[in-house]
Amino acid sequence: MNAIEKSVIHDISLAPSGRQKINWAKDHMPVLGRIRERVLVEKPLAGKRVAISLHLEAKTACMAELIRDAGAEVVITGSNPLSTQDDICAALVSEGVTVFARYNPTPEEYKSHFIMTLETKPDLIIDDGADLVTILHSERPDLLEQVKGGCEETTTGIKRLLSLEKSGQLKFPMIAVNDAFSKSLFDNRYGTGQSVWDGINRTTNLVVAGKTVVVIGYGWCGKGVAMRAKGLGARVIVVEIDAIKATEAHMEGFTVLPMKEAAKQGDFFVTVTGNSKVITKDHYEVMKDGAILANAGHFDIEIDKVSLEELSIQSEVVRKDITQYHLLDGRKINLLAEGRLVNLAAGDGHPAEIMDMTFALQVLSLLYLHQSNEKIGAHVIDVPYEIDEQVSRHFLESLGIQIDELTPEQTEYLGSWEI
Ligand code: NAD
Ligand code: SAH
Repeated sequence: MNAIEKSVIHDISLAPSGRQKINWAKDHMPVLGRIRERVLVEKPLAGKRVAISLHLEAKTACMAELIRDAGAEVVITGSNPLSTQDDICAALVSEGVTVFARYNPTPEEYKSHFIMTLETKPDLIIDDGADLVTILHSERPDLLEQVKGGCEETTTGIKRLLSLEKSGQLKFPMIAVNDAFSKSLFDNRYGTGQSVWDGINRTTNLVVAGKTVVVIGYGWCGKGVAMRAKGLGARVIVVEIDAIKATEAHMEGFTVLPMKEAAKQGDFFVTVTGNSKVITKDHYEVMKDGAILANAGHFDIEIDKVSLEELSIQSEVVRKDITQYHLLDGRKINLLAEGRLVNLAAGDGHPAEIMDMTFALQVLSLLYLHQSNEKIGAHVIDVPYEIDEQVSRHFLESLGIQIDELTPEQTEYLGSWEI
């Protein structure tokens, strides 16, 4: 069967629109371009099958095609029911990639897409949030044997993998791509910082300047969201549970408050904790009329939708990706993108140049894993520093930015305790 026959997508005739988006992204992903030149000649993944679960949009498609160019058969599914773009799926299928995904599937369909992806029996995996790996270990251990290892894209996925490893049940090596410097410093901070505001702005079409933005979670993503909110002219409040992160936010000039106080003041709320129920009943009860809630962390669990529904007499979609909840006392609360990642479910995610670095790390880590999986064993490991450094170096070169090198004398000085 060819990719068109095997795939489960919405509509293959959307391929030309998807191809336009992919071409635009590809032109702005020079680091992947350099890797492509190499793998087209060497075909390091010839004969291997790579299964990917990621946000199925244009930049992801560029990486999927690069892995295909490296000789692999590529099978891909979406990592969030609302971030899959149907035209991208169609364009990928037209290029021989097998796709199991469509925008806004039912929960049963969404799950079945993961299963179909795993049933192709991949050798290697790229996961986002550890969904593929979790299903393999918990529900389909019969498919574990073929898998030699994988790479994980995001913070929460790594937390899940570490817990699996700690329980002694992880069956193959996983590389923590998220924790590379060239990922978390740039993707989580600047990528999330820009794309969250892009998502909120295009969805609401409201002014941010002069408003109060509450950022819940001041990790890598939260720092980016808070920084860009400040740049847009907002007054920014940070909510944290970690004393060091809260101190950092204070030193950065942000107001630090507990959530029950911040809840009364915010016009916009953005959750980026990776945790559950960080906005819940007590907070809805004191929020301003018209408050806007967005999640940029994980799944749709950070904003407690169940208690919001319980407090409401009705809800309605008032604009694309905005659900308005009418509370008993007449106040309205607006939830963006059903509480799923606002930058991906109501936008195109991080910009191309950011995903260029992230996906370069993914591909180089995958190649490393392919060569070293037996040596690594069933552990979660960091991206080797040489790969991390190489990605930032290629990125700077693509911009024509040069940096200095240590002189031999300086190297000796830094390496000696006697001088
Ligand atoms: P991180 O660990 O650096 O930061 C999370 C922060 O949230 C920590 O400082 C933690 O102390 C804080 N926190 C946890 N529970 C809290 C609570 N109840 N109230 C207030 N603060 C709380 O993680 P990160 O890299 O910033 O990622 C955060 C989440 O965003 C993860 O789920 C990650 O997978 C996801 N993520 C999303 C995108 C995106 O494109 N939207 C990009 C990267 C990561
Ligand atoms: N799948 C889960 C996990 C969060 S995904 C969920 O949807 O809730 C967060 C990851 O999305 C980040 O680590 C980031 O690297 C990735 N991401 C952000 N923009 C992206 C884009 N344009 N294309 C693909 N992945 C993107």
